[in-house]
Amino acid sequence: SRTPLSLLGTGAMGTALARAWLAAGHPVTVWNRTPARAAHLAAEGAAVATSAAEAVAANRLVVLCLLDDASVGDALDGVDLSGCDLVNLTTGTPAQGRARAAWAQTRGARFLDAGIMAVPPMIGDARSGAYVLYSGSSGLFEEHGAALAVPAGTRYVGSDPGFAALHDVALLSAMSGMFAGVLHAFALIRREDVAPKDFAPLLVSWLGAMAPAAHKAAEHLESGDYGKDVVSNLTMQVAGNATLLATAEEQGVSPELLTPYMSLLERWLAEGHGDEDTTGAVELLDVRRAER
Ligand code: NDP
Repeated sequence: SRTPLSLLGTGAMGTALARAWLAAGHPVTVWNRTPARAAHLAAEGAAVATSAAEAVAANRLVVLCLLDDASVGDALDGVDLSGCDLVNLTTGTPAQGRARAAWAQTRGARFLDAGIMAVPPMIGDARSGAYVLYSGSSGLFEEHGAALAVPAGTRYVGSDPGFAALHDVALLSAMSGMFAGVLHAFALIRREDVAPKDFAPLLVSWLGAMAPAAHKAAEHLESGDYGKDVVSNLTMQVAGNATLLATAEEQGVSPELLTPYMSLLERWLAEGHGDEDTTGAVELLDVRRAER
């Protein structure tokens, strides 16, 4: 028998999740603030609740996929959560995850916070690599792990309810830097006789080839020795940055997406770290160090 569950929020992500559970034979009760956006799921086999309270009362396992943390508070304001197993797939900060866990606990619910590492078309496709980070109640995760694994893979990252958001936001932040670089690269080639679709495969394979440098950075961070087995030293990299900036100027492209990172590396170089690689500059990002 498949675990029945309730899903609050049938936006782009919630709809994809509901479809994956329905396709796998799980009875699903859905609720959405704007009822018209949940109605189409009735035709696909979902029960549609007319209030959040009704959806919560329908099943022990209650999944939230709302816009942000404030919408979770709005949707569940005054709703009896006692005995509920709440799984919050809404993206938030680590502090919001911890506060929601305490909020759920005082209302008698078990709580798992989560971060979805996927976009909606990846949900329900086992080959897409989609997964969800979870943290909080290990009992809840063990009991409902099989149902949670239906729409996407699952990774439990600890009992601290802030950890799913911490991992999620760290990954999204790295992605943000990558997309900034991609945008700048396309800006450089755009006005020339280079077809973006011919350039894109080069970009994808180059980023893929460079990404494993994160393993070396992790080794440096763990040992605290930023100068061990350095492949590309900071003196060389900062000199190379001048070429990147000169090319931006030649091509009439604003350097605004590159300069914050480059300035950070220059400051670290000025502090005498030319023989290391870039990892030590992480110290400059520590706001408490800057305040000292
Ligand atoms: P949508 O904008 O498509 O849906 C937002 C949902 O939140 C709707 O159901 C909306 O209801 C509801 N909502 C908004 N405000 C409130 C409120 N005050 N009270 C009650 N319900 C409210 O967003 P997505 O489905 O794409 O995203 C949902 C979550 O999933 C977000 O936290 C997002 O960060 C996360 N996510 C999304 C990804 C994506 O690519 N889409 C990727 C990874 C994570 P209504 O229809 O009434 O407006």
